[in-house]
Amino acid sequence: MKKIRNFCIIAHIDHGKSTLADRLLEFTNTIQVTTGQMLDDMDLEKERGITIKSHAIQMEYTYKGEKYILNLIDTPGHVDFSYEVSRSIAACEGALLIVDASQGVQAQTISNLYMAIEHDLEIIPIINKCDMASAMPEEVEDEIVELLGCKREEIIRASGKTGMGVEEILTAVIERIPHPEGDEEAPLQALIFDSVFNSFRGIIAYFKIENGVIRAGDKVKFFNTGKEYEADEVGVLKMEMVPRKELRTGDVGYIISGIKTSKEVKVGDTITHVARPCSKAIAGFEEVKPMVFAGVYPIEAEEFEDLRASLEKLQLNDASLTFQPESSLALGFGFRCGFLGLLHMEIVQERLDREFNMNVITTVPNVSYMIYDKQGEVKEVHNPGGMPDPTLIDHIEEPYIKASIITTTDYIGPIMTLCLGKRGELIKQEYISGNRVEIFYNMPLGEIVIDFYDRLKSISKGYASFDYHPDGFRPSKLVKLDIMLNGEPVDALSTLIHFDNAYDMGRRMCEKLKELIPRQQFEIAIQAAIGAKIIARETIKAVRKDVTAKCYGGDVSRKRKLLEKQKKGKKRMKQIGNVEVPQKAFLAVLKLD
Ligand code: GDP
Ligand code: MG
Repeated sequence: MKKIRNFCIIAHIDHGKSTLADRLLEFTNTIQVTTGQMLDDMDLEKERGITIKSHAIQMEYTYKGEKYILNLIDTPGHVDFSYEVSRSIAACEGALLIVDASQGVQAQTISNLYMAIEHDLEIIPIINKCDMASAMPEEVEDEIVELLGCKREEIIRASGKTGMGVEEILTAVIERIPHPEGDEEAPLQALIFDSVFNSFRGIIAYFKIENGVIRAGDKVKFFNTGKEYEADEVGVLKMEMVPRKELRTGDVGYIISGIKTSKEVKVGDTITHVARPCSKAIAGFEEVKPMVFAGVYPIEAEEFEDLRASLEKLQLNDASLTFQPESSLALGFGFRCGFLGLLHMEIVQERLDREFNMNVITTVPNVSYMIYDKQGEVKEVHNPGGMPDPTLIDHIEEPYIKASIITTTDYIGPIMTLCLGKRGELIKQEYISGNRVEIFYNMPLGEIVIDFYDRLKSISKGYASFDYHPDGFRPSKLVKLDIMLNGEPVDALSTLIHFDNAYDMGRRMCEKLKELIPRQQFEIAIQAAIGAKIIARETIKAVRKDVTAKCYGGDVSRKRKLLEKQKKGKKRMKQIGNVEVPQKAFLAVLKLD
């Protein structure tokens, strides 16, 4: 135990966590010097520069003649996965806090740091990318001192590119981070901080032992799910899995026990023995719940079953993805999927495309709503289309978040205007150092899932970072905005929207639809309605589209060809009541903000 150090790296996205991790692995000869980054092994991940799934890797390092075991636990860097981050942090005794020398402290630097402090981790501050011409290590040092209350000398200057500071970091890991503690004689208590799916071996769960010893062949129980397994294999994680007969208190390792789907292994759960169980689970366990929902529909109707099979496969290694069949008048059969957040949604969409070759349409995302009816019963609705009759509703609650935005003083004005437009309530504003400021807001999550990120990025010219945490549900004046074509409501176009924005949104939807629906042989009324009340209307004038007119009468066969062509064109239209809506036009409307 005394020779073990368990640590993680926390950083804002792109501050160089993966690169620096590689340098540590190279310096300790855990991996051979390569050009690529070793820790991120999914293609997608590499392209995005975001570590999606946490991993763990063991290094050996000899310091002052003594051999140490260093377990580096990698954490995902995006807000969508903050629960996973918190579990990885809970498995460590120390953290390397990496700050980019030209970017300075950013929103996720702080939110991850707070998690680490909450878990009493020893923090080793590192300024990375010191090789860059734009590096401002002094200024960033000021920010870190302000943030941590540490001494300047404690901050290590490093570069993942040149390898500067790497040895100093390893020394600090050994000298400053405390070794794990625990009772080897006590009943087994191991914290699951991650799991991965392996097509040959099933689910591999990663854990850290808080107390006790685990041996291959042991009968184990997962505390929160209550399920029992045999430990077919336990071992440590090097570049590959290395089986061991036993793992002891303080060790980080993996267990393979014939588990087939990721749903059975919950991050944050406690592994204990069946015969001599621990009396309570390790604190902090939570069931992660999807926060964002969207309809996912195959472009070709025949691919519905393929889509189901693909989603099932994705779910094998992504327990936070949920889905259930739904149908829409306009889009046919598809699934309502639940995601942790917008990035998670994008990842699923891309994986469907790349790994399963599925061509899908994703509808405008929405959050989940709590609908209280007049009898006092509550129902959770994930789809505006699934709303009960408004006359039966007493009130609706929507999820709120606590948001933090870090920016420079130049952009405070426009950012505040943006947040206000998104129904944000300013909580407070704090100066980090110099002209940089952190602003806190309460905001409805539903306003974030639409176009918040992009607008924040553009109005701040990229100089704003954003992070958020769920903050319960609140009653809200939400209304369902329906769109009707010649009196026929179109389910997939319904949205739940705050009353104050409903009129404007209704008008814009009608205008957009007028652009997108071609003229037909009769007049088409496009209406936006709240309940029975029409709030906006556009009209598409009738046209007598005589395609044969330009044939000058004569050639009959040519006339027939043209008529057939027109018929084919009609097939790509969706019939909504008596109105034909081109599928493409329909989807463009769904992509409208
Ligand atoms: P992560 O998102 O924190 O894991 O960041 P990455 O390790 O993926 O690095 C983000 C980008 O910064 C990549 O393009 C790296 O090549 C680059 N980078 C990382 N560390 C350094 C460094 O020390 N110096 C320079 N110049 N670039 C770096
Ligand atoms: Mg990375």
